[in-house]
Amino acid sequence: PLPQPPAQEKAKQPPEPPLPRQNAKVTPPSPPRVIADKTRTLEFVRVGMLGEGGFARVYEVKDRWGVRAACKVVTKLSLKTKKAKTKLYAEIKIHRSLEHPNIVRFQDCFEDDENVYMTLELCHNGSLMDMLRRRRRFTEPEARFFMVQLIGACQYMHTHQVIHRDLKLGNIFLDQGMNVKVGDFGLAALIENPGERKKTICGTPNYIAPEVLFDTANGHSFEVDTWSIGVILYTLVVGRPPFQTKDVKAIYKRIRDNEYEFPADKLVSFEEIVDHAFFTRGIVPDKIPTSAHDAAPSFS
Ligand code: ADP
Repeated sequence: PLPQPPAQEKAKQPPEPPLPRQNAKVTPPSPPRVIADKTRTLEFVRVGMLGEGGFARVYEVKDRWGVRAACKVVTKLSLKTKKAKTKLYAEIKIHRSLEHPNIVRFQDCFEDDENVYMTLELCHNGSLMDMLRRRRRFTEPEARFFMVQLIGACQYMHTHQVIHRDLKLGNIFLDQGMNVKVGDFGLAALIENPGERKKTICGTPNYIAPEVLFDTANGHSFEVDTWSIGVILYTLVVGRPPFQTKDVKAIYKRIRDNEYEFPADKLVSFEEIVDHAFFTRGIVPDKIPTSAHDAAPSFS
């Protein structure tokens, strides 16, 4: 049997289009209306609920000056094991080390007796997943806009030795100006030695790179984010992820076999093919010399 990764959000959803998140699990008690650290240096008032993930609830809060932020709340009841604590510390350590215009800004981290709190830059316009639900799919100019910012964020993370490992529409948030803000570093990994490979199987089924699932001996590295970015582009313009099917095992089989299709309206004509940058941006020689039998000719 294939390994089951922890984050199953997409697997629980029916094929297309995805439905709003269903919250079946029992929710722990709400955090206090006034959230503060022990010394009351930091103090926030809870003003609304923003969302819920696998490990945390996220609230909209206001500081003393009325400045709004997002506050990610992790109940200490979920931090009983050493493993859970290590995971949360890793998320905090990685996220607070990153500073980029297209990454959700990590502001502060503090605790009270019940919870650990992380205050984050507020993303007023939800996630690309929320937007796709309303739009069905995006235009190519929109897709290019989001992709350029996402790739910028990813390039920054990778030069800082961070692999996100859970890039997906639901973790790409939008600020007031509809700019991309990559969030949720709960599965991120820090590559501390050059050439180091990670072995933990994690991610969200639709977006997992094949080497994470099928090359567990060799492990995986930065390229898993590149794979997810490809899945994201396809999803933005087609409206559903390329390997989506009814159950997780079938998704994994399709990823292994690289089995995906383009919808009929994405198939291109010969005119569009010769108009592509591959032809228009490179040299098309007038003729090929016969010397090309033995050596590559020079065309510059
Ligand atoms: P988890 O790590 O538990 O999956 P996430 O970080 O993905 O939690 O957050 C869960 C939900 O909270 C998101 O899907 C989103 O709706 C909301 N959310 C998270 N961070 C922000 C933010 N910075 N601004 C606005 N909403 C947010």
